[in-house]
Amino acid sequence: MRVGIGYDVHRCDEARDLVLGGVELPHEVGLAGHSDADVLLHAIVDALLGAAALGDIGQHFPPDDPLWKDARSLDLLGRALALVREAGFDVGNVDATVIAERPRLAVHIPAMRERIARALGVEAGWVSVKATTHEGLGALGRGEGIAAMAVVLLSEMSG
Ligand SMILES: [Zn+2]
Repeated sequence: MRVGIGYDVHRCDEARDLVLGGVELPHEVGLAGHSDADVLLHAIVDALLGAAALGDIGQHFPPDDPLWKDARSLDLLGRALALVREAGFDVGNVDATVIAERPRLAVHIPAMRERIARALGVEAGWVSVKATTHEGLGALGRGEGIAAMAVVLLSEMSG
């Protein structure tokens, strides 16, 4: 068994759409970033890569590489999964927390879990997404950005 941790934060940007967990959310501000800035998927990608000791998201998908401009983070997740499988691992479970003052995420969480599970080839019951606020504290608490953290468990492929 191998465990990995991931953390990411993106600044809010009024000119962008908000995409979290591969789901476009109706909200007046999105997140700044080179790709679709899906902070939740970025944390999961980093956890996947970390569990397999394969480096980090910036190394595999450099933000200054035009290849990844406006990339769908679901595609980055798929590529990270392929790397992890090539290294001989299967995905176990994923647990993640999004830290966002707004919007309220509870109603969107089932769709995010479904989307992430499908991308990883596991059942939705193996993917947990939780949401919390920053209690008004600091930049996240003022709604200037959204952060996410994730842990992923990998198991060595049998045979
Ligand atoms: Zn990111």
